[in-house]
Amino acid sequence: MASDVNPFESLQEQIDDAAAYSDVDDDVLERFKRPERVLETTLSVELDDGSLGTFEAYRSQFNGDRGPYKGGIRYHPNVTRDEVKALSGWMAYKTAVVNIPYGGGKGGIALDPAEYSTTELERITRAYATELRPLVGPDEDVPAPDVNTGQREMNWIKGTYETLENTTAPGVVTGKAIESGGSQGRLEATGRSVTLAAREAFSYLGTGLEDATVAVQGYGNAGSIAAHLLEGEGARVVAVSDSSGAIYDEDGLDAGAAKDHKAETGSVAGYDDCEEYSNDELLTMDVDLLVPAALENAIDADLAEDVEADVIVEAANGPLTPDADDVLTDRDVYVLPDVLANAGGVTVSYFEWVQNRQRFYWSEERVNDELETVIVDAFDDLTDAFEERDLPNFRTAAYAVGLRRIVDAYEQSGN
Ligand code: GLU
Repeated sequence: MASDVNPFESLQEQIDDAAAYSDVDDDVLERFKRPERVLETTLSVELDDGSLGTFEAYRSQFNGDRGPYKGGIRYHPNVTRDEVKALSGWMAYKTAVVNIPYGGGKGGIALDPAEYSTTELERITRAYATELRPLVGPDEDVPAPDVNTGQREMNWIKGTYETLENTTAPGVVTGKAIESGGSQGRLEATGRSVTLAAREAFSYLGTGLEDATVAVQGYGNAGSIAAHLLEGEGARVVAVSDSSGAIYDEDGLDAGAAKDHKAETGSVAGYDDCEEYSNDELLTMDVDLLVPAALENAIDADLAEDVEADVIVEAANGPLTPDADDVLTDRDVYVLPDVLANAGGVTVSYFEWVQNRQRFYWSEERVNDELETVIVDAFDDLTDAFEERDLPNFRTAAYAVGLRRIVDAYEQSGN
């Protein structure tokens, strides 16, 4: 695990790699390599035992040239200012790659939510929402779920914002529960775009997903839903993992049953007498498709030398270090980058926000159809750039497409 690689430096390297193939002046490029502003705040919150807990919390607004800042809020002990800055930048390029009218943002609180009660988490979230109030709004900055947050936290943030602003504003956050203005299909959207991206990639490479073997690292929302939907495309999910380790069955697991097992026992380990392996062993298994769906820096250059998958589709944000990317490019392993592959989450967030503004709600079928159009179009734009400009890999192609769109919006606005 290459945990010492600074994700913000990785982001800047990825932008520089694309800029080398793009016609953007160096001084202008600087604007698109760093956040416009970062809120860093300490939350002081009373805990259940009466003591006072203090928590470092952040919100980074990376770029707003294409629309309101957009991106999730993460609860994790490893959250740092630089991680949040990187994640906000990845969002800015992601929204540009799938061409939805948003900029990029990201927030986080450095805590392990497993250590706190529901009432403590509610007070912490509402304290954070109070700090965010001057920054967020449906036309300013629109948070969403990320690692360890979901509908519950979004509903709390929405409620706090609406109370403080004396209004109703469901579009201030996305990823809400359906009854609070959420969208059909939002929960599944990240896993769905991973599956669509994999389907497009395998067809582009001249094979299909039918009978393709798949390993999934990380079995939370994105990983488990991608595994389930990939099965629906005829793929064989042979290995999945979570922080407790990996399980393997060469005949294929039942992705849904493995998820139920994790929900009941807390981990995938012990499911159906499968063979057990480490996470690093899963990442180097000889499969057709590898889906890293956990955290940043899962694959560094050393591990990349041992990767045996033919295609990697990134469900997590930033799971490969730039050095790992170089190794995999040299080894002709195709990597479908996060900024396209997991963009289903923010794309359906966009649909949710549109529905909130119109107070008119779509069927799940419509959401899924519109999502498919967005991801397939983005894939085509990426592969066109890859071929026409003879770019080294899909990530550089994605960043080249995204950078162009952000620079164009900035220059046209004349600001
Ligand atoms: N946290 C998700 C991401 O990294 C979703 C963001 C959103 O819906 O705004 O893309």
